[in-house]
Amino acid sequence: MEDTYRHKGMRKRLLDEIQAKYHYAPKVIEAMYKIPRHFFLDGAFEEFAYTDKAFPIDEQQTISQPSTVAYQTHLLDISPRQHVLEIGTGSGYQAAVLAAIGARVYTVERHEQLHLKAKTIFDFLSLGSVRAFFGDGSKGLGEFAPFDRILVTAATSSVPPALLKQLIVGGKLVIPVGNTHEQKMHIITRTGNHDYETSTFGRFKFVPLLRGKNYKHPNN
Ligand code: SAH
Repeated sequence: MEDTYRHKGMRKRLLDEIQAKYHYAPKVIEAMYKIPRHFFLDGAFEEFAYTDKAFPIDEQQTISQPSTVAYQTHLLDISPRQHVLEIGTGSGYQAAVLAAIGARVYTVERHEQLHLKAKTIFDFLSLGSVRAFFGDGSKGLGEFAPFDRILVTAATSSVPPALLKQLIVGGKLVIPVGNTHEQKMHIITRTGNHDYETSTFGRFKFVPLLRGKNYKHPNN
């Protein structure tokens, strides 16, 4: 895999367009410039990496649209060295962007196949600050809690209680909540041991957050 001048040029053009339209925190756009998004799509589709569209990956899942990755990252408002849990590794792209901001990233995926593939890309990019786990992320990752930030990149009708519990006081959870057709982005701040404040933004369509694990097929 190579990141050529052509790729860098296409990436810059896309990010300039996103920035002109939405004005996200500059550190978000800088981090996205560092991560070659085409590494996270299969080779034949690399042309699609630098358009502002979601794209199918394996297991009927999708890599989120670049402007949605920028938006969720902007809302998370992370600082270097914070511990960030991501639910729904998918291609691994969002986790790589969080790492490029300097976060210590823990990312969980329920499809073993996707989990293994994302891990090879994290290794290839030498992203040592990303730790990838295979499991049901709706339970969070108790052994590494509490987290400063939690990001869910799959849609749910209700917020999993484990995620609320694993947030540090003062921490934030960003999660799309709604039905299968449409969700609103919820930002939930833990303001005290038993207190949470929620604000909601926008309209989105994510693939669903499902329960349980899905093992890799032996022939794949
Ligand atoms: N963040 C990803 C996009 C994710 S799409 C990226 O940057 O490419 C949502 C992902 O969430 C899918 O890969 C899906 O398999 C995964 N997922 C759904 N339910 C899950 C659960 N309970 N635990 C962990 N991952 C889950």
